[in-house]
Amino acid sequence: MIVEEIFYGVKCNRCLEIHDDGEHSYWSDKSGAMENAMNSDWIEVKNKDYCPNCYFLNEETDENEIKEPFGEHVLALKRFIKTSLLAHLNIYENDVEDVFVFTFKRFKESTLKDYEERFIVELTKGKLISFTSLPDKYGTKEYKIELKK
Ligand SMILES: [Zn+2]
Repeated sequence: MIVEEIFYGVKCNRCLEIHDDGEHSYWSDKSGAMENAMNSDWIEVKNKDYCPNCYFLNEETDENEIKEPFGEHVLALKRFIKTSLLAHLNIYENDVEDVFVFTFKRFKESTLKDYEERFIVELTKGKLISFTSLPDKYGTKEYKIELKK
């Protein structure tokens, strides 16, 4: 017998990441999903949810402030890496220098083709600071892309 079950997760309205407590991303009820996100320092502001990377405490007003929305070039690159390259992506946001650092790995058989590298350069035109790759001893390559915000 097939049964259908609905699960709930909490997605950040800014970076579009889904809350993950290390074991689960989805819960069988909305309040469980919210409670777990809140326990990981997620916040809700005006019916929108934000992960800890997407807000900061303004020490003058003592209130949480949401960071500027992601630029289209940041979202486009993120989509390309996650959905076309299917790579596990880490994004580090440097608020002091207004820079995003993307890192991801590819295995030996699937290192980026020239056209994929050119596509990334085209996608981030005008915002690209650096695009480097480092091979390691296991044959994987780690790519690092720095972007202006
Ligand atoms: Zn976020």
